[in-house]
Amino acid sequence: MAGLKIQRNDTVMVITGTDKGKKGRVLHVMPEKGKLLVEHVRVVKKNVRPNPQRNIKGGIAEQESPIQISNVMLVCSSCGPTRVGYKFDGDTKVRVCKKCGETIAPKGKKK
Ligand SMILES: [Zn+2]
Repeated sequence: MAGLKIQRNDTVMVITGTDKGKKGRVLHVMPEKGKLLVEHVRVVKKNVRPNPQRNIKGGIAEQESPIQISNVMLVCSSCGPTRVGYKFDGDTKVRVCKKCGETIAPKGKKK
């Protein structure tokens, strides 16, 4: 896959399925599967069995499950869900919002 448009810590909006319209932060990207985990999206409840030996109490745990990257749109901080374009900032390829031209950088990215 050439150039993943969505990166960890991006904000995305789900555009299809039962979670359509939900926004969340990208927790994890799985490029080899073309899938990603989005915070509070496609949450499944799992029954956890108590295991005293490992100090696990048991009960119901909530966990995000992977969704297709093609099912989300990147959210521009200035104008909302958008398509992603690219431009060169010196030698660095940066992602830009196709609507307003704003550079899109993941939050908390370390340089
Ligand atoms: Zn924008």
